[in-house]
Amino acid sequence: MSLLNNLEHPTDARIWRGDLPVYHRYTAGVAGEKFLRALKDQGAVYGTRCPTCGYVYVPARLYCERDATHLDDSTWAPVGPAGALVSFSAVWVDLDGKRLDAPQWVGLVRLKGASSVLMHYLQTPTGALHAGMTVQAVLKPANERVGSITDIAYFKPL
Ligand SMILES: [Zn+2]
Repeated sequence: MSLLNNLEHPTDARIWRGDLPVYHRYTAGVAGEKFLRALKDQGAVYGTRCPTCGYVYVPARLYCERDATHLDDSTWAPVGPAGALVSFSAVWVDLDGKRLDAPQWVGLVRLKGASSVLMHYLQTPTGALHAGMTVQAVLKPANERVGSITDIAYFKPL
């Protein structure tokens, strides 16, 4: 039976076990690439301010999600690197679902000058976090940055 045959009886269904190799390439888009390149090369975090509604997006966007205004180069502005911790949570499993010995803290950070929030790792030796506290982005050393949001290693309380 091939995949093109219709099943007339449910008992004719079979299971195929194996691996399907899947390859993909992610593109960050025009604004995303510029945002990540600035993070990698300058160690700077940029947002885009919509001239129509004033909302500041971080990461930077090419179009305002509220009113579809094109956010050209004139709308780019540095934000942060400090900001307010809006919310946070302890994560007890890794990306593969394996239980962690200690929690990994993640939070939503509204960088200074931004309207939107950025989700990222938090590092706190004491676990003392509270909404509204000031946190600061800690970047990887310049020679270790690869053009990824993880070039920000984590945020730490100030
Ligand atoms: Zn707008």
